[in-house]
Amino acid sequence: MYCPFCSHQETKVIDSRLVAEGEQIRRRRECLECSERFTTFEVAELLMPKVIKQDGSRQPFDEDKLRAGILRSLEKRPVSVEDIESAIQRIKHKLRACGEREVPTEKVGEEVMRNLRQLDEVAYVRFASVYRSFKDLNEFRAEIERLEQEHRD
Ligand SMILES: [Zn+2]
Repeated sequence: MYCPFCSHQETKVIDSRLVAEGEQIRRRRECLECSERFTTFEVAELLMPKVIKQDGSRQPFDEDKLRAGILRSLEKRPVSVEDIESAIQRIKHKLRACGEREVPTEKVGEEVMRNLRQLDEVAYVRFASVYRSFKDLNEFRAEIERLEQEHRD
């Protein structure tokens, strides 16, 4: 790609490494003209299943929306950007690996919760409260009690 600073056509790769558990390649590049450095990410373009909404409509999987929901839950929590990106890759991988062409929105939510729970319990509870509260408040209360129980053990 052209240099984003001066649009020169030649850049050289000065560092290249695997990130997000091997699902991305991160490259540091340097412009041969202006010597500015920038980073590019390379990911495989794979088809994600469509998401079946509560009302039965089908929508394309929206990674930005997924990321926004996760970031909202993780606001001001001590979790690194790299760990968040790894979790997003794991969720996508899981959804692709199920082999279905369409998945219910609940399945996406369950995967997000499973990953958030490993990343940060506060974020998990935040997400679960938004995601589950309209369905069953008792279930949510039981989940909080279960987490508290785990901490006591
Ligand atoms: Zn340049």
